[in-house]
Formats: sequence, C-alpha cells, structure tokens
Amino acid sequence: MKALVLIKYNELVYMDVPDPDIMEDEVLVKVKACGICGSDIHGMDGSTGRRIPPLIMGHEASGIIIKTGKNVRDWNSGDRVTFDSTVYPLNDWYTLRGSYNLSDKREVIGVSPGNYRRNGAFAEFVAVPQHILYRLPENVTFEQAAMAEPVAVALHAVNLSLVQLGDSCVVTGAGTIGGFILQLLKLAGVNQLIAIDNSRVNLERSRKLGADHTFDPSETRIQDKVRAITNNRGPDIAFEAVGIGATVVMCIDLVRKGGRIVLVGNLSEYIEFPLQKVVTRELKISGSCAINGEYATVLELIGKKKVNVDQQISAIAPLSEGPGWFNRLRNNTEGLNKVILVP
Ligand SMILES: [Zn+2]
Repeated sequence: MKALVLIKYNELVYMDVPDPDIMEDEVLVKVKACGICGSDIHGMDGSTGRRIPPLIMGHEASGIIIKTGKNVRDWNSGDRVTFDSTVYPLNDWYTLRGSYNLSDKREVIGVSPGNYRRNGAFAEFVAVPQHILYRLPENVTFEQAAMAEPVAVALHAVNLSLVQLGDSCVVTGAGTIGGFILQLLKLAGVNQLIAIDNSRVNLERSRKLGADHTFDPSETRIQDKVRAITNNRGPDIAFEAVGIGATVVMCIDLVRKGGRIVLVGNLSEYIEFPLQKVVTRELKISGSCAINGEYATVLELIGKKKVNVDQQISAIAPLSEGPGWFNRLRNNTEGLNKVILVP
C-alpha cells in the first residue's frame, strides 16, 4: 500500500509499504480521510519523544471496513467507521472503573514513544481493534468523521469542567481543539464566552464559532477588560488549549476566585506555577487527557449539525501531497486550521 512514512525526524516520504496484518479481534479499514494533528506537527521533529521513526502517523481518521478478523462479531466489510485514537486494554483497572483514557498500557494510533509502535492512518489501510470502532451516521462524510477525534477531545474537557448554563468561560488557544471547546460551550448555554489567541485568523474564526469577546495576548490590561465583562469577578471557568506556562498563568490570573481551570494543552513538560494565587483564591485545576467515551455523542452532534466541523477544515488534499502540507502547517503563517489528507 501507499503510506506517508516518517522515515527519520523531519522527513516524511510518500512510499510503498507492506499492507498491515490484522489480528483476530481487529478489522482492516480502508482509510478515506485522516486529519493532521498538532501533535503530529510538534512530534515529527523529535521534540516530544512520541513519534520515533520509522512511523506512519495519523490518529484522526475514518474509512470503510474491508476485512474482519475471525473473532470480530458486530462489524462487517462495507461498514463506514471512525475509531478512537486510543487503543486501551479491556481488562485494565482504570478501564473497568470507566476511565479507559487513563488505562495502563494504553496506546495511541500513529504514535511510537519508545515502549510501543502503532502505525496510524496516513496510509491506504490501517488495522484497528473492534472495540474502538464507531459507526458513522449516514449523513456524516468521511472528512467530517475525521474531525470527530478533536471534537471528542474538546467534549471531554468541557464535560470535566462541569460547566452550567449561564456560566462565563475563557478559552486560551483558539486552534482546532480550542475552536471546538468554544462551539461546545456555546451549545452548553454559556453566557459570556471569551477567546484569547495570538492569531488574527483564529480570533476571527472564534467569533464565528460563538465567542462573544476575543483578545490578543499582546493587548494591555486584558485582565481588567475580562473582569469588566464578567461582573468584575472573572470567568467561572478557564480552558487552556495551548500548553505553555504563559497561557496557564493567564488562565490562573483571569478566572474568578473559587473558579475552575481545565488544562488541555500540554506542549511544555514543566512550567512555573503561581502557587500562592492558586491556593489563596481556591482555584480548582484539572488536567484533561484525550477521550473517554465521548465519540458516540460527538458523531450525533456532527450528524445533527449542532457542531459545525466544516468551518474548521482549512483544506482537503491527497495523501501524496502530505509532506508539503506538513511543512505549511509547521510554519503556519497562513492561520491554517485542520488539514485532512485523503489516500
Ligand atoms: Zn490529535
């Protein structure tokens, strides 16, 4: 089959590789669409340690089942599917408690951090275990279904925040995940929705996605301006979708006393932490990791057009042109959002 292979750091090649084998509980999916994730862009230069070459990346995908292993029960060739980006063991303590995203020995599709290597969906075919598959609603296209993964990541964060109708929220980082967090918060009945991003394109899109106010972090007195639109208290909840110290501290500064912060971005391994502000203002800070069962809801929301994924797709391009798109996204001076590759 043809695949986009990371043969060494920073070098993607569109080339022939052997078709994947499937195990008894797996299906072979003919890939119809696969989105380029920020973690692929940041990972391919070796900086995250999670894309050790050689590797076929790609974990935001959809396609058609063309072969089923002999223990596969509820899936057939011809089924239109998407799948979770996490392959989790079914007999794990965390999985059995309902937190498969935290399970030991979980693996992410299209990732190779050293202790495992699992080829992903920037290829004609990908092998997927049956227990992570989801059926596509009839009216959802393959390209739209490839967006289910980032929407599910956003929904997981929104659900963890325990947001209530009428709350005020701020989102730092209005890229793909941040954009979906904005859309979902609007859907949840948030009253004041604030987006902060250093890209003018992202801020313009944020307003279309439902943000009531947008700020560039280089503006002065952001904290005063945000206070002024949140009853002089600050937002009830902050979502951090960048993953660096400056934006985490910004969330801590902005949120009201007793407020909550959900951390989704995780670019930096360590950051400086304003301990006293968090303790004396009784902030509640929670990490949000990947997806924990949000797929089915997300596919329904996309099918019913309650979440608009099309607005966040910047381009749909052939897989063979992948190397060029990865380059454009790495520099991303154009304010590109999601790019979807089609084998
Ligand atoms: Zn991703």
